Amino acid sequence: MKFKLPREVKRIGEMLIEKGFQAYLVGGCVRDMAMDMDPKDWDIATDAKPEKIQEIFEDSVYENTFGTVGIKTESDDPTLKVIEVTTFRVEGSYSDKRRPDEVRFVKTIEEDLSRRDFTINALALDLNGGKEYIDPFGGEKDLGKGIVRAVRNPEDRFEEDALRLLRAVRLSAQLGFLMEEDTEKAIRKKAKLIQHVAHERVRDELTKLIMTPHAADGIIKLQSLGLLPYIIPELEEGVGCKQNKHHVYEVFEHNVKALEYAAKKNYPFEVRLASLLHDVGKPRTKRGRGKDVTFHGHEIVGARMAKHILTKLKFSKEVIENVTHLVRYHMFYYNVGDVSEAGVRRFLARVGPENIDNILKVREADRIGSRVPKAFPYKLRHLLFMIEKVKRDPLHPKMLKIKGDDVMNILGISPGPKVGMILSILLEDVLADPLKNTKEYLTGKTKELGDFSEKELKILSKKAQEKKERAELGIEGEMKKKYHVT
Ligand code: ATP
Ligand code: MG
Repeated sequence: MKFKLPREVKRIGEMLIEKGFQAYLVGGCVRDMAMDMDPKDWDIATDAKPEKIQEIFEDSVYENTFGTVGIKTESDDPTLKVIEVTTFRVEGSYSDKRRPDEVRFVKTIEEDLSRRDFTINALALDLNGGKEYIDPFGGEKDLGKGIVRAVRNPEDRFEEDALRLLRAVRLSAQLGFLMEEDTEKAIRKKAKLIQHVAHERVRDELTKLIMTPHAADGIIKLQSLGLLPYIIPELEEGVGCKQNKHHVYEVFEHNVKALEYAAKKNYPFEVRLASLLHDVGKPRTKRGRGKDVTFHGHEIVGARMAKHILTKLKFSKEVIENVTHLVRYHMFYYNVGDVSEAGVRRFLARVGPENIDNILKVREADRIGSRVPKAFPYKLRHLLFMIEKVKRDPLHPKMLKIKGDDVMNILGISPGPKVGMILSILLEDVLADPLKNTKEYLTGKTKELGDFSEKELKILSKKAQEKKERAELGIEGEMKKKYHVT
């Protein structure tokens, strides 16, 4: 077997070997190369202790106590920027399900491989000219067969570190592999242990799972193996939740199908996650029976649930906000002639023009995921045309021809809630008719509004807001009624 290794990796191996240490490539990169895939990162295992590694490599960082030293290289390739070199080690158990209680450095690569999770991840290649794998657990054979099999006794592996339950599913989805029978049995049996794993670790594996092309299979597997109730219980609520006559799939299946489409199209992470969660609110808003059930407001309930799910899993504030927003606004229906330009402007103001692209992607995943390809493309093109037409119109208070300072000057008032209220009423006027966005008109209107008390303004701005909501319901609600899409 011949491997082509990047210069940076070879160099690190040579430097360790020159100093009399061993150096092996281990883990995902060996697996990926064997499968003719490009490794996402490079891991080297060595008998040199962390202090020694740092002595040999000036530009290195040792941030944890588990023996991994990150070595910075000059490479521009993101997979090669930092190469991790880890001292041969074994781990104690993860009694708090976060970190190993202890790590112990060991002398041989074989011992190091024995602490790894799956046989396909427990292969090593000697950087000192080895042509054969170091393969104590039959990883090469399992790679050939396409099987994820735990190293030695599966139940023991999952008890030591329950994150491996999820890793097994992620790897099999990522590689398109089957799960070995005893490994799968052990996952079912130990599934509930995943609830004790630190949420950050679960989040990182879940993210990798969602980014694989077979993400949907992975979610189905999580469900069938009994892991889903401990990771996203809200999705489990959709299992067996039948929909109305316009849908062939149950809620869970439909959410998964939407993700399947988003993954197939290689859409970005937030779109995939939003596709998976877009109808998560349906089970809790289901009313009626049989073929006529409704799910009114499921996008509002769903957005709240998405926020809760993602917060619990410790996703970043940005991911939480964006995904929640996509779930909230995925019910965007449009039909030529039914919605005025002002309606599109109001909708755009609410949703944010920068989010339209992703909202349409989620909507597309929703449609294709329900297996009802209607004549949307024409409507969609028309909508895009309308958006194009109005998107340079003022949609935000900042785009008004007069600002907060002007309002204060005109009325001779100091900063306070009144200024914001007036601006939002002005914006409503301009959304309805962009030609009103002139200094002259807005100054006049401001003077008019200045006569009202704060309390009266509050009522007026609430009324304007309601008008906006009604307009939005005009887009969403009317269409929904018309097409029974709920
Ligand atoms: P990817 O291709 O996504 O990087 P990977 O297999 O390299 O997949 P990493 O999380 O980078 O996954 O881990 C590198 C290696 O470390 C694994 O191949 C495996 O040998 C070992 N490993 C990682 N996490 C665990 C774990 N929880 N238990 C046992 N071994 C693990
Ligand atoms: Mg890796």
